[in-house]
Amino acid sequence: NGDEQKIIDYVYKVVVIGDSAVGKTQVLSRFTRNDFCFDSKSTIGVEFQTRTLTIKSKVVKAQIWDTAGQERYRAVTSAYYRGALGAMLVYDITKRESFDHVARWVEELRAHADNSIVIALIGNKVDLEDKRAVPSEDAVEFAENQGLYFFETSALTGDNVEAAFFKLLEEIYSVVS
Ligand code: GDP
Repeated sequence: NGDEQKIIDYVYKVVVIGDSAVGKTQVLSRFTRNDFCFDSKSTIGVEFQTRTLTIKSKVVKAQIWDTAGQERYRAVTSAYYRGALGAMLVYDITKRESFDHVARWVEELRAHADNSIVIALIGNKVDLEDKRAVPSEDAVEFAENQGLYFFETSALTGDNVEAAFFKLLEEIYSVVS
């Protein structure tokens, strides 16, 4: 597809975190492969996917890491966060508990990641509006207090996934350059 021919100006490591089953893997594959798979669980072990794109006329390779199930055992290690310039912190808008745990994930980031890490809070599964358990206002308030960017997405329909990643990558660009 020609991507390989381009000179890469920057490589940005981004980590995807949040409770199990909120849609982390699907959000990631929507962004990197424009794909969604209902029954997808990958094997345990840290993995990443990449997508090369242009941000402010620079060629950026986004290297996006997936916990690949480690979060189930609270075993996300500091190696996972090392060198990360951005984080996508995902919860499920139909699972209140996954939003209640967001503060804990922010603490985890503050403890293990670089101070200048850019964080986006992602309320996923907006296609399930009739099952919504987390009002947008609650997340907006939390995001404002913590200095996070906030998006509601659907990995299933693709709604807002590109917008969320582009915003995160643009903010990383303005932090690092
Ligand atoms: P992870 O454990 O956070 O990586 O979650 P997965 O990506 O494996 O997704 C967990 C489940 O939620 C799977 O059954 C997915 O098909 C489903 N899922 C993920 N994203 C969405 C979404 O945007 N909408 C709906 N309706 N289901 C989703």
